[in-house]
Amino acid sequence: MTAVELSSATSVLVLGAGPAGLAAAAAASERGQLVTLVDDNPHPGGQIWRGGPGQWRDGRADALWTLVCQRPNVRLILGARVLSAPAPQELLLEIEGRAHSIGWQRLILCSGARELLLPFSGWTLPGVTGAGGLQALIKGGMSIAGKRVVVAGSGPLLLAVADTVRRHHGSVVAIAEHRPLPGLVAFFAQLSLRHRGKLWQALGLFRQLAGVRYRTGATVVAATGERQLRSVTLRQGGRQIELACDFLACGYGLVPNLELATLLGCRVDQGKVQVDGEQLSSRANVWAAGEATGIGGVDKALAEGHIAGMRATEGTPAPSVRAARHRALRFAGLLARRFGPTPALRALCKQDTIVCRCEDVLAAQLAEHCDWRTAKVLTRVGMGPCQGRICGAACAFLYGWQTPGLRLPVFPAAASILAAEHSAACTKEIES
Ligand SMILES: Cc1cc2nc3c(=O)[nH]c(=O)nc-3n(C[C@H](O)[C@H](O)[C@H](O)COP(=O)(O)OP(=O)(O)OC[C@H]3O[C@@H](n4cnc5c(N)ncnc54)[C@H](O)[C@@H]3O)c2cc1C
Repeated sequence: MTAVELSSATSVLVLGAGPAGLAAAAAASERGQLVTLVDDNPHPGGQIWRGGPGQWRDGRADALWTLVCQRPNVRLILGARVLSAPAPQELLLEIEGRAHSIGWQRLILCSGARELLLPFSGWTLPGVTGAGGLQALIKGGMSIAGKRVVVAGSGPLLLAVADTVRRHHGSVVAIAEHRPLPGLVAFFAQLSLRHRGKLWQALGLFRQLAGVRYRTGATVVAATGERQLRSVTLRQGGRQIELACDFLACGYGLVPNLELATLLGCRVDQGKVQVDGEQLSSRANVWAAGEATGIGGVDKALAEGHIAGMRATEGTPAPSVRAARHRALRFAGLLARRFGPTPALRALCKQDTIVCRCEDVLAAQLAEHCDWRTAKVLTRVGMGPCQGRICGAACAFLYGWQTPGLRLPVFPAAASILAAEHSAACTKEIES
């Protein structure tokens, strides 16, 4: 089996079809260059606009999608996973179980983010998911009707998740926000001063969620059940509160997906892809936009995607878009200050808590090691199918370890696909 070449190199390759990728593709295709948009989901839209056209409730998604579809110079490759980079300007993709290679001249990286899941007693029980994870399952068609759900963790995403549960006829037992009330009041005061649109959005969500108990300074300390989640224990102001439920959706914010940036050799620092004011990364001809360059939400993703698309094709972004990015970056800073995980959350992980759920590695087994590499070799932490995506971020938070952002291939893949990469490389070597 050899990798099938998709075509001669595309002028601009956009990786990720979330808000950042759609905005980048729309901007980059304006001047007629061949733009290829690749995403591993079967539908465009990324995380916030999951489910694809028809399910979106944001006019900006429809407008971008219509534009991208109308342009004959835009090619969409959905259901395609980037696995590796066999050559400096070439990527290996898996599409429907087959290997394909694609060349590029300029690349815009819009690989998004995933949730930060922090270990606590019972977090691996069936019924416990990430906050956005449950939302993704519901948007993907899972029925939540009549189910009792506790939404917990930290950040504004909890409100959006609770709203999704309600709209799909689930019952939100409580929202447990880890951050205490005074900090939240300060957050909303900042919103009213500088980010009115976000304030209206949040107030709108609170209105939708009327009747749902929003507990502040409340943290899930344990999830219990035999084979399935039955209840969660919250700690709030020195009290323990037991809540019966069918699902716990618990997340402590997001962390950028850095695997593709690392694969491409872009500089990653402070947990995000480093870019300049034009969204250009440290690698020539590679731009980056959206959550991969730092968590900031959809407005940041759209503005950065547009700027990256423009700059990758020698266009000039409008000053209004730069101003929008500036506002969005300020909002991102506010989010990080008000909702970033606090050191107190480390205490939730006890000696007998599982940290690596793929390989069943307990905190007690990890505590004796001094770094990720040693722990990995001696305990198998990070060696399972998630490739350290979940436990790597947890270990970085729990132990302050530097965890590498990449294990090749980027996602687990069949040996035949990896053999295709090898044979393609061999073919080139023979030809040269
Ligand atoms: C689970 C989850 C739920 C969220 N829900 C909300 C919400 O309800 N409201 C809200 O305001 N914000 C939400 N967010 C935040 C949201 O991610 C951002 O606001 C916005 O979607 C960021 O856009 P983006 O284009 O940077 O990234 P994303 O939307 O994450 O898009 C990145 C895309 O890159 C693709 N990709 C990554 N790696 C590869 C690869 N190797 N090969 C191929 N494709 C790849 C992904 O499949 C994804 O489609 C959520 C985030 C997460 C993680």
